[in-house]
Amino acid sequence: MADPRLTAPASLRPLYEVPAPVAGLYEEIADCPACTLAKTRSRTVPGSGPAPSDLMFIGEGPGQREDELGLPFVGRSGQFLDELLGTIGRSRQDVYVTNVVKCRPPGNRDPEPAEMAACRGYLDRQIEAVRPRVIATLGRFSMARWFPGERISAVHGRAIRAGSTWVVPMYHPAAALRTGSLRDVMKQDFQQLPALLASAPTDEAPRP
Ligand code: URA
Repeated sequence: MADPRLTAPASLRPLYEVPAPVAGLYEEIADCPACTLAKTRSRTVPGSGPAPSDLMFIGEGPGQREDELGLPFVGRSGQFLDELLGTIGRSRQDVYVTNVVKCRPPGNRDPEPAEMAACRGYLDRQIEAVRPRVIATLGRFSMARWFPGERISAVHGRAIRAGSTWVVPMYHPAAALRTGSLRDVMKQDFQQLPALLASAPTDEAPRP
């Protein structure tokens, strides 16, 4: 299989840079046999962006395009995420992006509890390495870690503190692509991010 770093569009190539604090972790993920998704993936999708980074996004799991390229949020949802980042003056290169599961669930089905549990340690270590001031969860699977039992329609855009980190639940970009009215909701929720970033302390490790 061709190395996607050589065949990916030039605009995506910076996203293949692996920051030193997560380099060992990405190597472990690349060989991960911990759940059945290992059998069907083309490649693992550990994450993209700098570590540390003040802003971290956590989605659900890779889709087809992500599975091909080994990068998170590079399909249609990713295009909308890029658009949302642009509205707050940020770009994909300066935020950290990952998913609850690092391998594509076949047919883009929901990740299963055992798969999320198998991947949980990787996400914990990413949060430790990235030390974000703000975590934005995208969709209900990443939200559930901090907002168990809540409905996204009730809590989206409402930030809570987890140690020294703000966690703000947001709809998944794919939901906004399916339901046009959620596009503006997501845009509004994004507008909070600059103030949250400005208000969080910088010098403590998060305790999510
Ligand atoms: N949806 C996700 O949750 N993550 C991706 O990386 C792409 C689409």
